[in-house]
Amino acid sequence: MDKKILPLIPLRGMCVFPGMVVHFDVSHQSSVKAVEEAMMGSEEVLLVTQRDFLNTEITAGNLYTIGVVAKIKQVIKVQNNLVRILVEGISRARLLGFEEGKHIIAAEYELIGDYEPAEDRKSKALFGALIDMLESYAVATGKDVKEFMRPYKPFTDPGKLIYQASGNLTLYFDKKQEILEKETVEDAADILCRYISEEVDIISIKKDFEEKVRGAVDKNQRDYLLREQLKVIRGELGEDTDSDIDSFKAQTEALCADKTVKDKIYKEIDRLRLLGHGSSESAVVRGYIETLLELPWDKMSKDNNDLKNAAKILDRDHYGLEKVKERILEFLAVRSLTQKGETPIICLVGPPGTGKTSIARSVAEALEKKYIRIHLGGVRDEAEIRGHRRTYVGAMPGRIAVGLKNAGVKNPLMLLDEIDKVSNDYKGDTFSALLEVLDPDQNKAFSDHYIEVPIDLSEVLFIATANTVQTIPQPLLDRMEVIEVTSYTENEKAHIAKDHLIAKQIRKNGLKKGQLTIGKKPLEMIIRNYTREAGVRNLERRIGDICRKAAREILEGETEKVKVTTDNLEHYLGKKKYSYDKKNSRNEIGIVRGLAWTAVGGDTLEIEVNVMPGKGEFLLTGKLGDVMKESAQAGISYIRSVSKKYKIDKEFFKEHDIHIHIPEGAVPKDGPSAGITMATAMLSAITKKAVRADVAMTGEITLRGRVLPIGGLKEKTLAAKNAGIKKVLVPAKNRPDIEELSEEITNGLTIVYVENMEEVLKEALV
Ligand code: ADP
Repeated sequence: MDKKILPLIPLRGMCVFPGMVVHFDVSHQSSVKAVEEAMMGSEEVLLVTQRDFLNTEITAGNLYTIGVVAKIKQVIKVQNNLVRILVEGISRARLLGFEEGKHIIAAEYELIGDYEPAEDRKSKALFGALIDMLESYAVATGKDVKEFMRPYKPFTDPGKLIYQASGNLTLYFDKKQEILEKETVEDAADILCRYISEEVDIISIKKDFEEKVRGAVDKNQRDYLLREQLKVIRGELGEDTDSDIDSFKAQTEALCADKTVKDKIYKEIDRLRLLGHGSSESAVVRGYIETLLELPWDKMSKDNNDLKNAAKILDRDHYGLEKVKERILEFLAVRSLTQKGETPIICLVGPPGTGKTSIARSVAEALEKKYIRIHLGGVRDEAEIRGHRRTYVGAMPGRIAVGLKNAGVKNPLMLLDEIDKVSNDYKGDTFSALLEVLDPDQNKAFSDHYIEVPIDLSEVLFIATANTVQTIPQPLLDRMEVIEVTSYTENEKAHIAKDHLIAKQIRKNGLKKGQLTIGKKPLEMIIRNYTREAGVRNLERRIGDICRKAAREILEGETEKVKVTTDNLEHYLGKKKYSYDKKNSRNEIGIVRGLAWTAVGGDTLEIEVNVMPGKGEFLLTGKLGDVMKESAQAGISYIRSVSKKYKIDKEFFKEHDIHIHIPEGAVPKDGPSAGITMATAMLSAITKKAVRADVAMTGEITLRGRVLPIGGLKEKTLAAKNAGIKKVLVPAKNRPDIEELSEEITNGLTIVYVENMEEVLKEALV
């Protein structure tokens, strides 16, 4: 090979391949001189790339050995020391040496020509592989493949293709140099393919990443745009949800509640914002938010724990009821001493109209608590207590939650009225929901299906009322402290009317004090002849009737003052409705008067027995319960066991049917206390001995004829007295109960304590 000399231009950060036309700027003094020298001679230069392009010193160590001889095609002087030249690579060359330190670097070199070609078939394969690679690069970079491949069209030889491709691709110069230096076309193709595929990988990773970033940005932008559009549309429709939402937000912020509650509301507000106006769902969400905002999460009123004040208010509003008031005051005392929630819940049990509700109202007033009454009578659906889930159409919170909402504070007095009239049906368990309300362990976080967030009921003071404890399930009853409120006597009723009801009705009907007076006698008549009840509700109504009539008369100018007397009572209330004289007019066989306790007070019960020829059958009618039937069976067994004593024929029970009937067949009756009454009636019918008309009795019977104690004596005795009975037979063991009754009740009655049937029969049979 010939050694030749040419001016050297070191290249920085680039690499020129044979066949490539490139232009670059030359500024190094020796390079500018080299250009000038070349232009004066063959116009050729040797281009060799620097290893370190930041190092301006030209040394053998800083230059690659393989470069390219290039022809200068154009020289443009840009500035004094800066020329731009256009060159075309001609052939690869090896740098052999150069003289340093001179102005022009004269380099000694030898041409090394093209890559060593491969054999024909291989060469074709390499060519095909390179073309494929380039196309995949074009696809990866998103270029138009046809356009991209156009410069490579003229080539058929892989070597030339490698020069062209390496020159065009954006590869680092050291990689390009590596390709330039390869000896065989195979090696060069190999390494070029590797670099292209690396590049394709990098590009695709970059693209993925870019797409992700762009995706996120795009979505944000899109949402923003849509939201803005929505705003404009709503504005056009005159639906300004934003101000509602802002006001909801402000209310939530000001709300005195837990973070969980607030978070829940915020979430719903966000939902409302997305739903916008008008849709039925947005109305549901709006209702929900409003309900949550109205609930008294942490709002409390301050209690007045002054017991003297409480006693004063209870006395002011209610006549009598001494025991009840005492128990209530004890309860309040314990309550203010212990932690809330530890005291049991009061349940006032008694007949209607005896002041249960009104006591609860007075307690609320005394404690300065908000008073909320929840009527539970007839509630059968669990949802009434616990609310409907919001997925139901027209879903609502339960009564407890609504009550709390209406109270506006979390510590009201909640009256659960008629808790004994709750029942279960297929729609879930009402009682267990009530248990959750009343159980101090559970009611800290009461779950209402509609509200979804737990509600704290532990601060609520619950008072329940019921007519009877019989229909209250045991677990519920266990949570409550039962305070019995009993029927009133005539005297008590008269006092209540005089002290409270008359004044109340006068006020209610717009009359002035003194415009209406009702004397003692006419009042007694109202109680006796116009009402029959355990409480005073109807009495209050009758007084109300009088007030209305009186108001009319006064207004029409007939009179200035109305005075009700025994003479004009009929004018105001019409004909007498009841007369208490219910005792039989004469002694009769097979008819005995018993005494009964019912949820609405005491009553007398007439028991009839007929004996007729038959086959020894035993018939009971009058809607009797199981206990009552069994007690009748016990009675007949007793009679059979003593048949000798009463001279009853041995065959009598085989040849006769016995039928017991208790009139008022529509009213269900049950309990053991008619035992001795039925036995007496049967014996009277069998022996044909009459029963005294002025005797009534109550007591359970055993097989051996013993008389066992029973309950409800106050009501029963009152009923007996009202029925005009003179003598009442009572189990001996009930003596303490009778002694507890006020004289007013027992006055005029002969109470006979009995221990066995013999004593009963002695008193009852004529
Ligand atoms: P309940 O809840 O037991 O059915 P209420 O509390 O509704 O009965 O009482 C009916 C009416 O009788 C009310 O107006 C109440 O004020 C009055 N009342 C009942 N008992 C008394 C009483 N002892 N003193 C004064 N008023 C009474």
